Amino acid sequence: MTFRALVTNKDAEGKVSSGVEQVEEARLPEGDVTVDIDWAGLNYKDGLCLTGAGGLVRTYPHVAGIDFAGTVSDSQSDRYGLGDTVVLTGWRVGETQWGGYAEKARVRADWLVPLPRGFSTRDAMVIGTAGLTAMLAINRLEAVGLKPDGGEVLVTGAAGGVGSVAVTLLAKLGYQVAALSGRAEHAASLLALGASSAVDRDSFLAEPDKPLETARWAGVIDNVGGKVLGKVLKQVKYDGLVASIGNAGGIGLETNVLPFILRGVTLIGIDSVMQKFETRVTAWQRLGELFDFEAYGAGNVTEIGLEQLPEAAQAILAGQVKGRTLVKVR
Ligand code: NDP
Repeated sequence: MTFRALVTNKDAEGKVSSGVEQVEEARLPEGDVTVDIDWAGLNYKDGLCLTGAGGLVRTYPHVAGIDFAGTVSDSQSDRYGLGDTVVLTGWRVGETQWGGYAEKARVRADWLVPLPRGFSTRDAMVIGTAGLTAMLAINRLEAVGLKPDGGEVLVTGAAGGVGSVAVTLLAKLGYQVAALSGRAEHAASLLALGASSAVDRDSFLAEPDKPLETARWAGVIDNVGGKVLGKVLKQVKYDGLVASIGNAGGIGLETNVLPFILRGVTLIGIDSVMQKFETRVTAWQRLGELFDFEAYGAGNVTEIGLEQLPEAAQAILAGQVKGRTLVKVR
């Protein structure tokens, strides 16, 4: 038995490239559940894995793809039976483990989450790792006191996957959302998703730097890190809450302690990869209640096939992808 997979290889000169191949089922890794994959996602981290950037992939040949959704075709686990629809995000699948860019995957049952009622496998990948992480961030911020009437919440990297889902979820929850983006051409679309204002990244960064700046944000969901996060922290209101999710703009963080010691600002790290099962199930269920597929799908979802992934990987690393890119695997 063979099936299609996008296989990533590294040559003797260290050049990483990927191509679609027929792969023997015997090459699937060990695991207690086999999944027929319908849809995978394209995330920033997939861009890193497909290009070899960041050193996330240690062994080649490799099958990338950090998230996928599909149907259980074989199960040694009590939790899943044949025909169950499931989603997988995290657990370093697609990095150190066999990933979602193949028609089949074999994984540990603990890594899977049953799809919320009414979700198709495509719906699950419209949300994907990006949407799950946005939901985890909102849940954490609310657990420590963020409330819709507390003031504006800033989302950075707003036109990307995590950012655009964060904008739409916050708006649905009644927050006033400012969407910071480096791409002015997507401002109208972010307003359509529910943002109340659009902030231009270049103008924002060009404002004179001070140790503490005018307090503007009750909360922040930051997908960018680097200079943007450093500056944002100085603009957070008294007792404000900041979730750090991503590093699309760099891993550095240059700031000072004044926002923390004079304004009581809290900086919270969000990791979606190693979250426990119960936290994931709760987040997916809340996504099922909140996420408006029709509104989000209008202009924020692109579909590609396995063959288009190498090109799409370059585009996401260059900050050129809008919203979510879905990979139709079969
Ligand atoms: P996307 O590429 O879809 O979104 C990233 C966005 O960041 C871009 O769309 C762009 O938004 C902005 N951006 C890109 N390059 C730069 C730059 N040089 N400087 C400032 N802003 C930039 O990626 P994802 O949404 O998939 O992921 C976003 C980040 O979150 C990534 O760093 C990813 O690794 C991280 N992540 C972390 C997770 C966790 O568990 N902590 C889980 C998922 C993602 P715009 O054009 O609007 O400015």
